[in-house]
Amino acid sequence: MIQLLRVLIVEDSKDDAALLVRELERGGYKPEFKQVDTAASMSDALDQQTWDVVLADYSLPQFDGPSALALLQGKGFDLPFIIVSGSVGEDIAVAVMRAGAHDYIMKNNLSRLIPAVERELKEAAERREHRKAEETIRYLAYYDGLTNLPNRSLLQDRLQQAILTAQRDNKPLALLLMDLDHFKEINDTLGHHCGDLLLQQVGLRLRHVLRESDTAARLGGDEFAMLLPLAASEHAMLVAQKVFKAMEAPFIVEGLTMNVEASIGITIYPDHGANPEGLMQRADVAMYEAKQKGSGCVIYDSAHDRHSHRRLTLMGELRHAIDDGQLFLHYQPKISLQTGRVIGVEALVRWLHPQHGMIPPVQFIAPAEQTGLIKPLTLWVLNTALGQCRTWRRTGLELPVSVNLSARNLHDPQLPDQVAGLLQSNGVPPAGLALEITESIIMADPAHALETLLRLSKMGIQISLDDFGTGYSSLGYLKKLPVHEIKIDKSFVTDMVRDESDEMIVRSTIDLGHNLGRRVVAEGVEQQATWERLTALGCDAAQGYYMGRPIPAAELTRWLGESPYGLKSV
Ligand code: C2E
Ligand code: MG
Ligand code: MG
Repeated sequence: MIQLLRVLIVEDSKDDAALLVRELERGGYKPEFKQVDTAASMSDALDQQTWDVVLADYSLPQFDGPSALALLQGKGFDLPFIIVSGSVGEDIAVAVMRAGAHDYIMKNNLSRLIPAVERELKEAAERREHRKAEETIRYLAYYDGLTNLPNRSLLQDRLQQAILTAQRDNKPLALLLMDLDHFKEINDTLGHHCGDLLLQQVGLRLRHVLRESDTAARLGGDEFAMLLPLAASEHAMLVAQKVFKAMEAPFIVEGLTMNVEASIGITIYPDHGANPEGLMQRADVAMYEAKQKGSGCVIYDSAHDRHSHRRLTLMGELRHAIDDGQLFLHYQPKISLQTGRVIGVEALVRWLHPQHGMIPPVQFIAPAEQTGLIKPLTLWVLNTALGQCRTWRRTGLELPVSVNLSARNLHDPQLPDQVAGLLQSNGVPPAGLALEITESIIMADPAHALETLLRLSKMGIQISLDDFGTGYSSLGYLKKLPVHEIKIDKSFVTDMVRDESDEMIVRSTIDLGHNLGRRVVAEGVEQQATWERLTALGCDAAQGYYMGRPIPAAELTRWLGESPYGLKSV
């Protein structure tokens, strides 16, 4: 089949250009070409139409190859750029390749031209595909499909940025959390469709009230947030009043007129929190307060925060829980989608509190981070998981275990040595351990995190990027990280067979991960259909309730012998 090829030839000699065209024709292409020999004419040609490939001579009377390359790059084009020149010496060839040229071909050896063009077209197409996948993921992962407002992830990102700026300039900022009153009733009586339309209109009104530099986001359900950089509490109150005013006019949905009221909770940096989590959590407390009072809008006041009291006591108790044996681990199997067999287990901590019963990790991991208790906790988890790993190894079960790390762990310069010590004392080889980190951990302090990760990875420990898609790291950054595995967050996986945009994220993440040579694991697989879809998409492994819930070690040992996913063969 003859393939049309749009070639921009940067060349002063008509004869040489003709030779190139003939060579391309011999290779089965139908070249549609333009010859240019100055910066101005090349620039025009680039602006006028799209090109598939640029072939450039090295030196021309009024122009040269490196300048042509710089011009192309300066315009932001990512096209195959191949230098075709007489002999110029190896050092020059190397220099242009370094600058970004894709190949260097001698005019007296044009037989290399076709293979080079073919290869570079293929690679350029892959790069395009890759960028498209990144854009899709970014949009779907950072915007709310219903209202087109930023979602929770993007809000957190902007909040983090705004905090850094506020810190530097010594200025406050405000976070408003808004929840519609009686939205559930509207949804239940008029249906989801009406509920969705209403949320869209609310989104529009919020955007109208805010300035360009403010962010309105939808966090999910009927919860919205507004971020006002450089605003103190007076300004935040004013904006809240404006929002109420904007909501006063009735909403008209499918011909029905309805009045909607809302409650707003406000937190101010630095008075009520120093990080996104703290501000969000307290804005939530304030909003709850506003809802209870029915008074519209409340600024956070620690006196009303029962959460923080309970937290404080809980942290006091966690200190003892570690030593008193109240913590234990559950293990959840990770299963290969290719072989259907277990390829590892994830250790998940549990706290059996003498009064409160079982406390899930979401309730004590974050506060443990803030109080520094996460360090002894992580060491306890590592030691226990590695001890279990040794027990399994003694019975011939070579199951790698994964342990979750927190931000503070990664910024602890002692961690790599401590991990090495624990591997040794438990007699487990480094490859028997995987450490799971989340994107947000890395972004909090990339340079430090990268250093620790490199040390751990050099020791032979597997690194796994957990909850992928929920954080706000740039995907490009992933390339630089010594990460062996990406775990797609369960919020995208669980509903992927029903939700198209979830499926798109999952598919793009698998492709992207594979492009970067990483293993991709899906978490939160709760039904067979999801398992099958993931297999079809080429995902490597999966974790989830459908195959196996997190369970105590003894139960998992039994499960391994009985389950179809188990290791009967070992
Ligand atoms: P994670 O590392 O992403 O762990 C997966 C979580 O998803 C676990 O919740 C697990 O029980 C749950 N899960 C597994 N399969 C399914 C499924 O099919 N459907 C649904 N809906 N959920 C599923 P868990 O055990 O409550 O842990 C929550 C988070 O707490 C973990 O998320 C991890 O970030 C953190 N965590 C747990 N143990 C530790 C620990 O030892 N150290 C640190 N730093 N964090 C831990
Ligand atoms: Mg994990
Ligand atoms: Mg996870």
